[in-house]
Amino acid sequence: KRLARLNIELNSGLVGARMLLEIVDSPQSEPDDGDKPALALTEARVEFDHVGFAYRPDEPVLNAMSFTAEPGKMTALVGPSGGGKSTVLALLLRLYEPGSGDIRIDGQSIAGVSRRSLRQQTAYVGQDVYLFRDTVRANIAFGKIGASEDEIVAAAKAAYAHDFIMGFPLGYDTPVGEHGAQLSGGQRQRIAVARALLRNAPIVLLDEATAALDSESEKLVQEAIERLCLNRTTIVIAHRLHTIMHADAILVVEGGTIVEQGRHDDLLRRSGRYASFFRLQQRHAAPLAPVDAAI
Ligand code: ADP
Ligand code: MG
Repeated sequence: KRLARLNIELNSGLVGARMLLEIVDSPQSEPDDGDKPALALTEARVEFDHVGFAYRPDEPVLNAMSFTAEPGKMTALVGPSGGGKSTVLALLLRLYEPGSGDIRIDGQSIAGVSRRSLRQQTAYVGQDVYLFRDTVRANIAFGKIGASEDEIVAAAKAAYAHDFIMGFPLGYDTPVGEHGAQLSGGQRQRIAVARALLRNAPIVLLDEATAALDSESEKLVQEAIERLCLNRTTIVIAHRLHTIMHADAILVVEGGTIVEQGRHDDLLRRSGRYASFFRLQQRHAAPLAPVDAAI
C-alpha cells in the first residue's frame, strides 16, 4: 500500500527498494517494536560483535563477524561479490536480525531500540537511486519531512546538484522519474547525496554504484560523497578501490568474515588479499572496473 502511494520508480533490486522504504521515517509505529526506547546517540560508534547470520538455514552468510566503525571515521568494506558486504548494511538497518552475536551503536544493542530511532540516525545511499515520479524538489525533500526551501537548496548545492537542476527550464519544479527529466547516473547519485545531506544523520551507509559514470560526473559524485562522510561515522562498500585509499580503515570481507584489515598503505605492504585486488584492478586499467567483477 505504501509502495503504491509513494509511486516509486522501481528499476531493479528489491533489497534496495526495501531499504529505501524502510528508511523513510514512518509515521506508523513498528508493530514488533513494542515500546522500545529510542537509540541514545552519543558519538555514533558502530560495533559488530561476533555477528552470525543466514538468509536460509544451513547457508551461513556472516560468520562471527566483528569490527568497530569508529565515530566520525570512514570504514570501507571491500571483497569479492557474495562475501556479505551488503548484508552487513541490511543488518545494521535492521531489515534482518542477526542469528547470533550483537550489533551495537554507542553500546546499545540495536535490537533493543526502536527501529524508527535507529533509522533517524542513519542515511543510506545505495547502488540504485530511487526517484519518485515527482519534482526534483520533492525527491530531495524526501530526506527530511518538513524541510524548508533554503535547506533543500543548501543540500543540493553541497551535493553539486544545484547547477544542473538550475539548468532545467523548470529548475527544482522539474518532474523526474517516468516521463520526467532523464537524469544521468551521476545526476541521480548527486540527488541521493543531497537527500542524505538533508537528513543530516550521524551514521552514513554507502553502497557504491558499480556502474561506471563518466569521469566528470564521477569526480563530482566523489566530492559530494566526501562532504557527506565528513565527520560522520561512515561505512562504505567500495567497488573501486581508488575511492577508499584514504579510508580510516579498510576491511576485506570474504566468506562472511573479515580476512584482513588496515589502512591502504599497510595492506599494500602486507601483500595479501587487498594488495592482490588492488593490483588486479590496476592491471585491468580499470580504476573504473568494479572489484567484484575483477575477481
Ligand atoms: P556482497 O554485498 O558482498 O556481494 P551480499 O551480502 O549481497 O554480498 O550477499 C552475501 C550472500 O548472501 C550471497 O551468497 C547472496 O547470494 C546471499 N543473499 C544476499 N541477499 C539475499 C537474500 N535477500 N536472500 C537470500 N540470500 C541472499
Ligand atoms: Mg553487495
